Amino acid sequence: SQDNLIETWNQKNVVETLPKRNRYSHKGSHGKGLVIGGSHTMPGSVAMTAKAALRSGSGLITVGTVQEAIPSIASYCMEATYISFLSNEGIITGLPAIDFSSYDALAIGMGMGRSESTASITKKVIVDAKIPILIDADGLQHIKGDLPLIKQRQHPTVLTPHPGEMAMLTGYSVKEILTSPFKVSKQFAREHGVYLILKGVHTIISDPNGRQWVNTTGNAGLAKGGSGDVLSGILLSMMMQNQSLNDALTNGCFIHGASADILVSEQRSKQDLVATDVIDGLTSVFRTLI
Ligand code: AMP
Ligand code: MG
Repeated sequence: SQDNLIETWNQKNVVETLPKRNRYSHKGSHGKGLVIGGSHTMPGSVAMTAKAALRSGSGLITVGTVQEAIPSIASYCMEATYISFLSNEGIITGLPAIDFSSYDALAIGMGMGRSESTASITKKVIVDAKIPILIDADGLQHIKGDLPLIKQRQHPTVLTPHPGEMAMLTGYSVKEILTSPFKVSKQFAREHGVYLILKGVHTIISDPNGRQWVNTTGNAGLAKGGSGDVLSGILLSMMMQNQSLNDALTNGCFIHGASADILVSEQRSKQDLVATDVIDGLTSVFRTLI
């Protein structure tokens, strides 16, 4: 039946829907994005998310993170601007006053750590930010007991769990999730009113109405720390620039995997590929797609 239709998303779909830069583009036409996360011991996470967002066409990216991590992140991500968050022992403890309405979308959770302070900051952002939000990694841990907060949002929420995080969110085992990934993710997306990206060999994208797509790009070279942070950055950028969130998310997943596929076939191997390579590989992807 129509209800069980699962759509694949291919290169032609991407070419048709990817936002184009017209001759009169200015940075404001391509969105302002905010990345919140990171900690003293995990500065690379937000650095990769921000850099991937910048390499995916974003107009402007701001990173909100612990004050002590900013110099190292900024040396990798010079195009971004920074908001310094109060911290204690390298973990963010305070949310500065931020005018969320001046951003088109935000991503939160990567490398943030799992303390009481990061949990309450995540929840405050979810309530206060009246813009599309992507929640990943430690941010997913923080919302587990507060899914009604997400359902109440008037703006889209995108969750990007891997199977382990999906197990944590749903109470199903990883085995159960891998046995029925379409069923479990559709049910969760509908029940909580979210866009759900269940990451894996074949990443499944579900919208709040239960419509589903399966991504066909990517390879085992992505089975490394940091791959998910890069995906979050690409998705954030697409969310900032696309009218249709479904197009944005399916395109983001396609592009992330395509970068790894081109790198492994032309330049690197599944063995040595690392997450920052996937950011560099975006060049070949966009040159092919646009
Ligand atoms: P994370 O676990 O959060 O770092 O996310 C890992 C990312 O890499 C997701 O986008 C996965 O879909 C992708 N990935 C991991 N392992 C594989 C694999 N064996 N084949 C294809 N994609 C993978
Ligand atoms: Mg991850």
